[in-house]
Amino acid sequence: MTEPLGDEPILSVRNLKKHYPITEGVLSREVGAARAVDGISFDLHPGETLGLVGESGCGKSTAASSIIRLEEATDGEVIFNGGDRWGRRPEDGSHPNDVTRFDDEELMSFRRDAQMIFQDPSSSFDPRMSVGASVAEPLMVHGMNDKTQRREIVEDLLERVGLSADDYERYPHEFSGGQKQRIALARALVLNPELIVADEPVSALDVSIRAEILSLISDLQDEFGLSMLFISHDMSVIREVCDRVAVMYLGEIVEIGDAEDVFSDPQHPYTEALLSAIPTPDPRTDRKDIELRGTVPSPTDPPDGCRFHTRCHRVIQPADIDMVQEHWRSLLNFRDQAAAGGIDVESAREVVRVEAEGEEPSDAAVKEEIRSEFELPESLSDAAAEETLDESLDLLLAGDEAAASERLGSAFTTPCEQSDPELTDHGDGHRSACLLHDADQESQDIAAADD
Ligand code: ADP
Ligand code: MG
Repeated sequence: MTEPLGDEPILSVRNLKKHYPITEGVLSREVGAARAVDGISFDLHPGETLGLVGESGCGKSTAASSIIRLEEATDGEVIFNGGDRWGRRPEDGSHPNDVTRFDDEELMSFRRDAQMIFQDPSSSFDPRMSVGASVAEPLMVHGMNDKTQRREIVEDLLERVGLSADDYERYPHEFSGGQKQRIALARALVLNPELIVADEPVSALDVSIRAEILSLISDLQDEFGLSMLFISHDMSVIREVCDRVAVMYLGEIVEIGDAEDVFSDPQHPYTEALLSAIPTPDPRTDRKDIELRGTVPSPTDPPDGCRFHTRCHRVIQPADIDMVQEHWRSLLNFRDQAAAGGIDVESAREVVRVEAEGEEPSDAAVKEEIRSEFELPESLSDAAAEETLDESLDLLLAGDEAAASERLGSAFTTPCEQSDPELTDHGDGHRSACLLHDADQESQDIAAADD
């Protein structure tokens, strides 16, 4: 393969999608799709470590395996080492370095240049093979037939990952999880790759040895001049090793930028929430843990508009509503539960009955109980909203959940479920997708026009 081209990205991911079909019945009729990765784009530059972070199920591993082509992408491009000097093919506009279109020979060469490290070091090794033979295997596959030379390379690598040359003849079960991950690193490096994709490389390890392995990864990355896509669900791990960060939510990238900028000045509410979960050594900091309430959506049926709106603590209030932000979040959760038929009036009544030691509860008491379950205040500060809420509670108690849901649905909507935010630039390549940015921009524009 070609050498990396200075400032050109080593990897350009463009609108990458991976949808898994959902089938039904004996004929496997396709009835839908899990949009595990749903149009992500980013560049990785030579020598850089880009962190891909997001909670479990957001599509990180699917992105990794589509990029490295362990799985076939549904759509999009993965351009490896192909800067501007490579033209597009006139026939179909495709890029000659698009991994998703590589033929077998190109793929073989790509597999030498791009290596992957997985979460579970135990499953990465054949228990019947000595670790030396395991590490040497890729050399053999790629045609290095000189046994002595292979052994020399492997022994040297074992030492560079903090083991010893004597470990060559030992077997995987003789090593701890951390040591196995060191061996996995040696094997990933044996072909002198340009790109490493590491999928949760320390998540399966004891907390006590994570730091060691992370610092080894950083050292190796410098030493070998590697470019790395580093995947983790844990912001504190990302902070240890990454130059840049991409935050993923339900198949999409919602924020990307230099690690320093993303950590010190997060723009997306989801990033904010992830950061708030990092334990701080200083108990006096006033940063409070942001608790994400609301429905966790599925990639088979992602919410309209901003995909995060069902859980967002900053979900926007429409112009005609003005209330405490937490109450607005609670109100939308209540609305969504009503729509899903998930409000159990009878069990609320039962709770009150038990509390009142068997006395038949008043409607007011049951309504209060439901409000408290949904973290709704005794009364909303917005009078019109309060009236609607109270009416819909009455409808629920009267057993007409459909009418209650209808009432809530027509009165309470958020702009966040109506338009899909674009990535907005905050300078220095720091971008994020949130409607609040548009609102900020508008008010700035208005302020500027007023001047
Ligand atoms: P992460 O690595 O961020 O935890 P994954 O990429 O493993 O997330 O999964 C993303 C989504 O895709 C999840 O909802 C998961 O259930 C779904 N998914 C992953 N692999 C498959 C598959 N082979 N078939 C169907 N759905 C899948
Ligand atoms: Mg994963």
